[in-house]
Amino acid sequence: MGKIQTLPVSVINRIAAGEVVERPASVVKELLENALDSGPTRVDAELEQGGIALIRIVDDGCGIEAEDLPLAVSPHATSKLQCADDLDDIKTLGFRGEALASIAEVSRVLIRTRTASGTGSRLEVDGGLNRGVMPEGCRPGTSVEVHQLFSKIPARRAFLKTPATEWSHASEAFVKTALAHPEIAFSLTHNRRRVHELPAVDDWRQRIADLYGNQLADRLLHAKEVDDDISVVALIGRPEDDMASGRFQHFFIGGRPFRDRSILHAVQEGYRGRLLSGRQPIVFLQLHVPLAHVDVNVHPAKTEVRFRDPGRLHRLVLLAVRSALGGIITPTVFNPPSSSSSAVPGLAAAEAIWKRQQLAAGGNESDRNSFQDVPLHDLDKSEHTFISSGPKLFDEENDSSIKQENLPGTGDNGIPEERAFQLHQRYLVVETKEGIEVIDQHALHERVLYEQLRERMSNGAVEVQPLLIPEQVELSSLEFEAVTSHLDVLSEAGVKVESFGGTTVVVRGKPALVGRTSASDIIREVIDRLAALDADGGDHRAVVDEVLHSLSCRAAIKAGDPLSQAEVDTLVADRHRYPGTRHCPHGRPTSLMLSRRELDKQFRRT
Ligand code: ADP
Ligand code: MG
Repeated sequence: MGKIQTLPVSVINRIAAGEVVERPASVVKELLENALDSGPTRVDAELEQGGIALIRIVDDGCGIEAEDLPLAVSPHATSKLQCADDLDDIKTLGFRGEALASIAEVSRVLIRTRTASGTGSRLEVDGGLNRGVMPEGCRPGTSVEVHQLFSKIPARRAFLKTPATEWSHASEAFVKTALAHPEIAFSLTHNRRRVHELPAVDDWRQRIADLYGNQLADRLLHAKEVDDDISVVALIGRPEDDMASGRFQHFFIGGRPFRDRSILHAVQEGYRGRLLSGRQPIVFLQLHVPLAHVDVNVHPAKTEVRFRDPGRLHRLVLLAVRSALGGIITPTVFNPPSSSSSAVPGLAAAEAIWKRQQLAAGGNESDRNSFQDVPLHDLDKSEHTFISSGPKLFDEENDSSIKQENLPGTGDNGIPEERAFQLHQRYLVVETKEGIEVIDQHALHERVLYEQLRERMSNGAVEVQPLLIPEQVELSSLEFEAVTSHLDVLSEAGVKVESFGGTTVVVRGKPALVGRTSASDIIREVIDRLAALDADGGDHRAVVDEVLHSLSCRAAIKAGDPLSQAEVDTLVADRHRYPGTRHCPHGRPTSLMLSRRELDKQFRRT
């Protein structure tokens, strides 16, 4: 007998399962796609233990005929492909005809379904074993339950992470699907708790608001570009609403999420020069491209696409982003409180007080020009009264402008007295004993703030500035969980937050060190970073560190902020007061050195 045999069906299914079913999130994605293909008005998803114990997806779509039910769970059976030509159709989402079969091979699957005209039926498949179709009364539509994923395959089960981590992946899969289909109502429930309730809407921004809150959605800029038969529609974040991670970047084509390096690159290119390095913009983007221009079956999970003319799409996306951003001025100089918060009664008064404080702290022209040798930018006076978006570094009344002409010496407090000035509103140039030092003002200030906060936090002495008007921040349920599970750390760091009904939190105080950085900015940044932590990796130290990072990053002066001489001096001196100031908290250098010896050498003086 020959040695070549065809594989038993269950082995084929298990191999396919390896491609399609990796973890609960992939099951959620496949089942949601099937539900969407059934033409529903509403889809409800329910998970337990991050989806490991249970995933239930219920739709009110077309249902499956009782006689077709066994076929639905057999491999390469699909109602979506009549001939190979249909492979070009990206409108129906699933078309490999193996998802249900693969899932049923590695779990216990229970399907209840009813077509509009038929009576209901149910089918159970346990570890690939078909237990047969039975009549069962149920609502029109389909409910698919997946119990105990991988429970009988220890090797696969071992690769699952904790329920918390699986939950974060699975809910992300849900969010992507819900974003792609605002016209369909969705809900998501985890461990019996309703996490999202999303009504059907015809406005994409509304769906984004329902998922992430109005504060985020309202500030998004609309971007659109059309080139003949292809077009790009996007809602993108303002540069100042940048994020620590790419968690808020979603790309869709033909109603499905996708990833593509070149499109992402085009977006980042559009933001170039407007974001600090390492920061990520918020992007919700849809491509509308004729089917013939795309191949979506490149990847088994169908997350990658191949475009016929990637260059054309790249240009279009870049153009869309640039023109949307073109209309706004990056507020490196004056960052007004967001319009959404201005609606809060009483805020106008607070704003006026704040402006007065800024004016009082803004210094005057003679201070500014005391360093005569340095050509100062001819700033419009009204502009530089509202200077940094970070805190003032120094009390101007105590400004001891540098008058000495000699080489830098050492003051009584052991800190060298150095001459320093600001260039291009982003670099500080310092004359040191050894030569010349060029400092990145944002990177250094970020480090200094980080060290100050850390020092005070470990002494339990973070000075809290109570908010005149406590600020409410509306969050998604996921974000709400991220914040409320770290209230203790936030409080130690001086961020006084309480939950405030639903998924809203109210911020009552912030660390005095962060100056006028708004409470909602702080909270958003904290969430973004906490979410970037592996859900398991939330050990206390890592959480503290992320919170400190968030605060110092948001509050630090930015490139483009003009500084008074007093502020320059304080910052330059601070680098001798705190450890580690040669690098910013992210490990990038804060300064470059040019030694006298190097200069002498370059000028051939030696
Ligand atoms: P594919 O989606 O690639 O066709 P699946 O294994 O995911 O393969 O599904 C097999 C078939 O089962 C589908 O083609 C469809 O006919 C049927 N089916 C699965 N889920 C649903 C659902 N929620 N509503 C209606 N029909 C469904
Ligand atoms: Mg499918």
